[in-house]
Amino acid sequence: MSELTLFRASILHFLRDPGEAADERAWQYWEDGALVVESGRVVVCGPEAALLTQYPQAKVVDHRGKLLLPGFVDTHIHFAQTDIIASYGAQLLDWLNTYTFPAERRFADRVHADNVAQFFLDELLRNGTTTAAVYPTVHKASVDAFFSAAEQRQMRMVCGKIMMDRHCPDFLQDNVASAEADSRELIERWHGHGRAGYALTPRFAPTSTPEQLAMTGRLFAEYEGLWLQTHVAENVDEVRWVADLFPDARSYLDVYDRYGLLGERGVYAHCIHLDRADRERMAATGTAMSFCPTSNLFLGSGLFDLNRARELGVRVGLATDVGGGTSFSMLQTLNEAYKVLQLGGQKLNAWRGFYLATLAGAEALYLEDRIGNFLPGKEADFVVLDWAATPLLERRMQAAQSLDERLFALMLLGGDRVVAQTYVLGEPRLPAC
Ligand SMILES: [Zn+2]
Repeated sequence: MSELTLFRASILHFLRDPGEAADERAWQYWEDGALVVESGRVVVCGPEAALLTQYPQAKVVDHRGKLLLPGFVDTHIHFAQTDIIASYGAQLLDWLNTYTFPAERRFADRVHADNVAQFFLDELLRNGTTTAAVYPTVHKASVDAFFSAAEQRQMRMVCGKIMMDRHCPDFLQDNVASAEADSRELIERWHGHGRAGYALTPRFAPTSTPEQLAMTGRLFAEYEGLWLQTHVAENVDEVRWVADLFPDARSYLDVYDRYGLLGERGVYAHCIHLDRADRERMAATGTAMSFCPTSNLFLGSGLFDLNRARELGVRVGLATDVGGGTSFSMLQTLNEAYKVLQLGGQKLNAWRGFYLATLAGAEALYLEDRIGNFLPGKEADFVVLDWAATPLLERRMQAAQSLDERLFALMLLGGDRVVAQTYVLGEPRLPAC
């Protein structure tokens, strides 16, 4: 909306990682807060009393009693796997063959791709997610369907055609020349168009030939501001397979490094079975990790080590990884993240949890100059959460003694039902609550 609007609510946003020690200089919170928005951008946020006086002409939207946060950022999710979420009984490589590839085949059909893209983006909004890094399929139509649907909703999205030219069914296989031509065409059409950003998307090292990976590296270097997304070190059988396919590489990550695929706006999902040299290399190159706890538990892949990555300075975002992940909700994802870290002897306090779901995701995608918190000039994507959306939450909140305790309960017990409204560029995107 172009009109000056003041949103009243309790407001929380982050300036940096609060860490395991919950450093309170890392966030700002106003119990009686206000967020002032004009033309889809943040003007200011702060205590409501002062801002109501300062902006008497503003239209007031009243969300008092609820919590207003920056929109959630999901750094790794597959829109084409929406229909296979919660499919039984497989680990990664069987999962791909049994469920994923047959589901992705259907996206050659633009009508099907449009239908799933519309549902998927509405489901993200229902869960308070306003930006995501998204995998479609190998088909150009799947990318066009996705970005068209995102454009209708004005959502900031990163996506790009999957590339795979071996070790997959014929009906999903491209080749070096077609992958390059299709990617170039889609980059020209979508990259920097409105809020769309293009990501080169080799599925993972086993499904691309060395020649395709090399071509991907050339495109990554050639175009300004492209993203690159892929998977690494998710599953032990996968890691062994990569070692067989690329015997000269020092590690799985090193395969990508050799082809020039690390760097800023590189976003790597999972990053479980890495060693110190891999993590140092990701830190040195500015390559980000996506932490996908529900997927890692569901597919039995392993436990992500958050502290080791952060201590080395790696950017880490949170991700649902639907359909390997089991929920679109970043709150449910935080619930499982807490448990994954517990098993690794680490703690996830609520402050760091909400940082991971918001600003950390923006940092992982190198979008922190545009989204992720409420500094002046940021794009006004935000979510309003109802502390008491369910009888259990209402009761738990009454028992809570502190904000810290309330936020933790919200993070563990929350889900799509707590999302009262999701705003994109200052406009409500859910039916009125
Ligand atoms: Zn994935």
